[in-house]
Amino acid sequence: MRPIADTGPIDRLRAPIGLPENRSTVRSSQSDPATLKHGGRTSLDMTRGFYIGRFQPFHNGHLSVVEQIADDVDELVLGIGSADDSHTVRNPFTAGERIMMITKSLVDTDLVTYAVPIEDLERNSVWVSHVQSMSPDFDVAYSNNPLVIQLFREAGVEVRQSPMFNREVLAGTEVRERMVDDGDWEPLVPEAVVDVVDEIDGIERIGMISDNDSDGDWAA
Ligand code: ATP
Ligand code: MG
Repeated sequence: MRPIADTGPIDRLRAPIGLPENRSTVRSSQSDPATLKHGGRTSLDMTRGFYIGRFQPFHNGHLSVVEQIADDVDELVLGIGSADDSHTVRNPFTAGERIMMITKSLVDTDLVTYAVPIEDLERNSVWVSHVQSMSPDFDVAYSNNPLVIQLFREAGVEVRQSPMFNREVLAGTEVRERMVDDGDWEPLVPEAVVDVVDEIDGIERIGMISDNDSDGDWAA
């Protein structure tokens, strides 16, 4: 992540859009070598999906999306966008911390998952190649972000959209604001995320990095 225009379009599209009916999957087998795909897609009667986000932090909306995707695919790659950013108000947690949140939250999910860090690349025209260079091969990408959808489609990757779940509160921005304001953020995230935030003293961190110097003297 992230394509350059990520911040706008990713949050503008809020209307729930159901998964398309036409869910093509790769159906191939060793007994039918003509259908076996090489060098870019999965094979052997299984489907692998790709879902990208910054996951700052991984919250119950993300979890609901993953649970929905689980009905659709055998394996799922979670691309951790802006992987190279951390310790900022918008991206407080490191890629490693987000991997912990995701791995522990999905431990009981009936789905093979891989969390793959994707560093920012300020060049949309080659962004899909960048993603593919870091990820296990995947058959279908899940996104509601118009720019992400467009980039994947132009690259010939099938894209499916997921509904939005309780978006009024299940949003990373809302969770982070509640963390800063000593609000009730815990109900918005899986229990495992509460444990990780506790382990890394995440509330203290986000409080410090969102605090403006009151006297303007950085050395004070
Ligand atoms: P932020 O407010 O920091 O942008 P976010 O909640 O949008 O956080 P992202 O990591 O930016 O989380 O989003 C990853 C993907 O998850 C995006 O495609 C976004 O549309 C989707 N998503 C986020 N929240 C929900 C939700 N409540 N229901 C369904 N999809 C969601
Ligand atoms: Mg977002």
